[in-house]
Amino acid sequence: MANSNTSAENAEVDVAAQKEVLLQRRKELVGDLEHIEHALDEPMPTDWEDRSSERQGDEVLEALGNVEMAELMRIDAALDRIAADSYGDCTKCGQPISKARLAALPEAALCIKCA
Ligand SMILES: [Zn+2]
Repeated sequence: MANSNTSAENAEVDVAAQKEVLLQRRKELVGDLEHIEHALDEPMPTDWEDRSSERQGDEVLEALGNVEMAELMRIDAALDRIAADSYGDCTKCGQPISKARLAALPEAALCIKCA
């Protein structure tokens, strides 16, 4: 009988599960970003007061869009590392990133020391 799972601590990172999490999060982000883009495309109201509040709303949306876009890029980079079979290794020092860190931050590119 193969007994490959004797120690949870030494177990490999479950890349397939991490990929699933990343793809799910990616889908959410893409949906959000489409929604933001759509909202930003809507024509300005003709009323002046509405117009200034609309503009503030646009700034908030744009800021949110930028944050989400940055996360999307980190997720894409993580998916690239999965494809290249280097997922879970620190992109700076090459040491493995801890499982706990990857569980908390599946798109992590750096180990805790380099972060
Ligand atoms: Zn590192």
